[in-house]
Amino acid sequence: MFAARREAQVDESSFEQVLDAVRRFVRERVMPREDEIETTDAIPDDLRADIAELGLFGYALPAEFGGSGVTMSQDVRLAFEFGYTTPAFRSLFGTNNGIAGQVIAKFGSREQQEAFLPALAAGDMIASFALTESEAGSSPAGLKTSARRDGTDWILSGTKRFITNAPLADLFVVFARSDPDAEAGRGISAFAVDARSEGLTVGPRDHKMGQRGAWTAEVSFSDVRVPADRLIGTEGRGYRSAMTVLARGRLHIAAMCVGTAQRILDESVAHASASKQGGRPIGDYQLVQAMLADSYAELAAGRSLVCTVAAAYDAGTDIAAGPSSAKLYCSEMVSRVADRGVQVHGGLGYMSSTVVERMYRDSRLYRLYEGTSEIQKLIIARELLAPATR
Ligand SMILES: Cc1cc2nc3c(=O)[nH]c(=O)nc-3n(C[C@H](O)[C@H](O)[C@H](O)COP(=O)(O)OP(=O)(O)OC[C@H]3O[C@@H](n4cnc5c(N)ncnc54)[C@H](O)[C@@H]3O)c2cc1C
Repeated sequence: MFAARREAQVDESSFEQVLDAVRRFVRERVMPREDEIETTDAIPDDLRADIAELGLFGYALPAEFGGSGVTMSQDVRLAFEFGYTTPAFRSLFGTNNGIAGQVIAKFGSREQQEAFLPALAAGDMIASFALTESEAGSSPAGLKTSARRDGTDWILSGTKRFITNAPLADLFVVFARSDPDAEAGRGISAFAVDARSEGLTVGPRDHKMGQRGAWTAEVSFSDVRVPADRLIGTEGRGYRSAMTVLARGRLHIAAMCVGTAQRILDESVAHASASKQGGRPIGDYQLVQAMLADSYAELAAGRSLVCTVAAAYDAGTDIAAGPSSAKLYCSEMVSRVADRGVQVHGGLGYMSSTVVERMYRDSRLYRLYEGTSEIQKLIIARELLAPATR
């Protein structure tokens, strides 16, 4: 679908075709397999092959390295579609296009881009983003994983946790403290680390509340030797790279929330139209209608916010407060919509046979990762107050 492109950006009419193809793929190929993905806790191999064939492993990576280079405004419209099905689908190719791949695309050397991006875009390689540690989640500037020099090489030691796609990863984008004397974020550098490196261990898959089929695990580095040419960007500026890609990721997650909220609302409307109590469809009852109306209005607000923020992101006029606002609002919004979705389904909404039960658990994560809601509020407030404190 995306495969033969070389231009820097996807023009609007081609993008509409791509969007249509993705929508059809989600509805015709992924949705029928949601139960299988949930039960097996895995994306089937044939679906992974189809995802690669469709070009989804590199849709947001630069076209000159085999990706498609969509704009943020296009990215969020794709994410509206991805969010409509199990989040495990997007998670499989999410780190390549997003938090891990973008560090290399935006900050990597030409050699690193040539070495990794075509393989990431083709889906031949999976990359993970390894920032979080046990005492450095909301405050990653305090991370303890160390990078010390040994000749021209670096030696990495430390442990990361909750790393998405770690059990599948061929490459880790790792953030480690290269200067123990520098102030917090200043002394952190980013490294591209081969998953097969001696001393690198991936722990067992985490057992999560939801998002089955999307894998996370702990990753330990025990004196892992990393060649000098695997330092990504400028030494000591890795924290800035992490924050840059996370801001972009937050907007993408906000769009995922919109897609998921749409699915939950569609399921709820269908149920309210079909299920009867007192001889009438429950949708006839005004208190049920109120739940649907509240969800519809909040969903519409979330979608508009995401599109507005994406346009500002593309224009370069808001790359921090906007993405955080969108993630804050949409992740909280989808939780409310999911809660109402369960309520509209009554007891059935508590049964694991229903989509709303699964999405209720799946969507809870959005308020936690890539910065909790509390952290989004701190970022927004920091941006608002910045002019006064300069
Ligand atoms: C399924 C999953 C996938 C993930 N994938 C990745 C990944 O691929 N790569 C990666 O690096 N990380 C990943 N993470 C980590 C994720 O980004 C962190 O879990 C998240 O940022 C929260 O950090 P924490 O878990 O350490 O919680 P904590 O930081 O301990 O937060 C606990 C509570 O304290 C609050 N809190 C903390 N500090 C403050 C403060 N200063 N002010 C106000 N409130 C505060 C938080 O908001 C929260 O309510 C993933 C996590 C999960 C669960």
